[in-house]
Amino acid sequence: MFENVKKVDPLIYDYILAEKERQMEGIELIPSENLVSPAVLEALGSYLTNKYSEGYPGRRYYGGNEVVDKVEQLAIDRLKQLFGAEHANVQPNSGSPANMAMYSALLNVGDKAMGLKLTEGGHLTHGHKVNFSGKLYNFVQYGVSKESEMLDYDEIRKKVLEEKPKLLLSGYTAYPRNIDFKEFRSIADEAGCYCVADIAHIAGLCAGGVHENPVPYFDVVTTTTHKTLRGPRSAVIMCKNEFSEKIDKAVFPGLQGGPHEHVIAAKAIAFGEALKPEFKDYASQIVKNARVLGEALQDYGYRLVTGGTDNHLILVDVRKSGVSGIEAEKALEKAGIYCNKNTIPFETGSPWDPSGIRIGTPVLTTRGMKESEMKEVASFMHLALKNKDNDAKLAEIKNKVKLFCNNFIFYK
Ligand SMILES: *Cc1c(COP(=O)(O)O)cnc(C)c1O
Repeated sequence: MFENVKKVDPLIYDYILAEKERQMEGIELIPSENLVSPAVLEALGSYLTNKYSEGYPGRRYYGGNEVVDKVEQLAIDRLKQLFGAEHANVQPNSGSPANMAMYSALLNVGDKAMGLKLTEGGHLTHGHKVNFSGKLYNFVQYGVSKESEMLDYDEIRKKVLEEKPKLLLSGYTAYPRNIDFKEFRSIADEAGCYCVADIAHIAGLCAGGVHENPVPYFDVVTTTTHKTLRGPRSAVIMCKNEFSEKIDKAVFPGLQGGPHEHVIAAKAIAFGEALKPEFKDYASQIVKNARVLGEALQDYGYRLVTGGTDNHLILVDVRKSGVSGIEAEKALEKAGIYCNKNTIPFETGSPWDPSGIRIGTPVLTTRGMKESEMKEVASFMHLALKNKDNDAKLAEIKNKVKLFCNNFIFYK
């Protein structure tokens, strides 16, 4: 692969290979990342990238779309089957534009909406003031319980009934627990507002049957396709039939121009992979791995936000162990272990140097690692954090990490 890149642009070729090497030689714990199959990779580099196809299958503004129509329709059909959706739009280019399209379909500028606070697990596009969502709409945020650090549905219900938003959003970016989507549906029904979810992180777990899937009974659900769902870097929107026209118009011509049909082909392949029985094993292994990794870290004395995990991700309050989030991220990186610093609920630090790190198991699970490897990963992490100021020791750990990872090479 990449023989032509090598000939035409050796510098970029070297960078591509260096990045592949970094991915194979390190322990990737960033919970929003994954490794796509070689088939998905190939589709991303295919001839479909050359085609303009504004519009939707059967109704395009350009000629020559007889093949592209089949590709996009296949992606739509597979996605609907995977999540039990009434309607699907596979054109959003990424998670943030998918959310932008969803809001613009359901809200007018200035309308009130509710989502979870960024510092407690929400996403920037859930109403943060530096983001379009917080600028265009009147977002009021709910939080998690001070005691349990988990969602308190009675509190949320109270707040929603008080605030009377037009849209209630669930689904998060750093929440390690199951989400009670049925409870959200009931709250939204009582308040008479739209009930929507952004399942970017957990979509693969929903599709794999290890997390409740809100798609059949929510009004609109957005998701990225590149996190636990293990497709290309992109997104989709699913909705009830009554919202289909609004959603489709919001994506095109409302927000985007020509769809990226090479990415849509890659999404179709990924949805096909997710429909196979093996995907259920992968999804349940992600959760098992996260539980064991979390417990092993607890055994080393680390405090986990909410005391554990139900899904693919873990928030570790490293400050409790005398390390700041930024120090932890840097020390681990020097040891070939990748994670991201993250705020924790009721944060005392800053977003730039928060108290936590966010880790997860999708990549390691895709590489074939199981519970026993998670214990080794925890021990590498603990060793690196204990030696955070000792560069020589961290370099030594990095070598050991590389040897460990050599047993799980995913891209040959
Ligand atoms: C990752 C994520 C997004 C944004 O996706 P991008 O593809 O990075 O734009 C949106 N919402 C949630 C909950 C996410 O976790």
